[in-house]
Amino acid sequence: MSKLVAGNWKMFGDINMISEIKKIDQHCNEIDCEVAICPPFPLLFSANEQTENIKIGAQSCHVNINGAHTGEVSAEMLVEVGAQFILVGHSERRQNNNETNNVVKLKSEAVHRSGATAIVCIGETLEERKEEKTLSVLQEQMLSSLPTKVTPQNTVIAYEPVWAIGTGLVPETDQIRAAHSFIRGFLVSTYGAEAHNVKILYGGSVKGSNAKEIFSIANVNGALVGGASLKSSDFIEIITAASNSV
Ligand code: PEP
Repeated sequence: MSKLVAGNWKMFGDINMISEIKKIDQHCNEIDCEVAICPPFPLLFSANEQTENIKIGAQSCHVNINGAHTGEVSAEMLVEVGAQFILVGHSERRQNNNETNNVVKLKSEAVHRSGATAIVCIGETLEERKEEKTLSVLQEQMLSSLPTKVTPQNTVIAYEPVWAIGTGLVPETDQIRAAHSFIRGFLVSTYGAEAHNVKILYGGSVKGSNAKEIFSIANVNGALVGGASLKSSDFIEIITAASNSV
């Protein structure tokens, strides 16, 4: 299956950075992988209007369609301005916004209701890895934060070890292989053979220098990229590696 590389801009970027998205978009004319950029909400509309090849994603949404929820945005509103992907359950939201597995599940269902694809993030902390709890944490997160209907069209899983996000630390190849293989096994046993085609992204300090090796690991179907997605030249190195690894 072709790879998906999604850039998570977090709370970075201003209107001038649409030019970076346009550079990435131009490059995507020539490559063989799916590319998405998830900028902050205020940039979504312009990013979508000014690009042709890449997809646009959002970083979170509310569980409801509308209502008295000051400061919130629904999945439907995000789709209306061009979002095709919506991140849910990023570890920064689990940690800083108290998003439990149950909230992540409700948000995933809201994304499905809107017609967008949910990129559901899961991953262990350093403490959990040291205590050899990685696979049980992943299992619990998938059991409790995935909706009852998961298909290759409505869901992408992002395996992001919390300790690898923004730290420059990357797990050993075997550790990534084991986690992705476990996630694939869970998906297929829970959702059936179709789940062989659900994309599983790796996220955590992916850069141009390590992308090729990460993309060669079995069941790594792409990457979720934070820091290295903010500069077009860095991100283009990663999407080039993904395109070459098909
Ligand atoms: C992320 O924020 O999802 C992420 C993977 O960040 P970074 O690539 O900077 O580690």
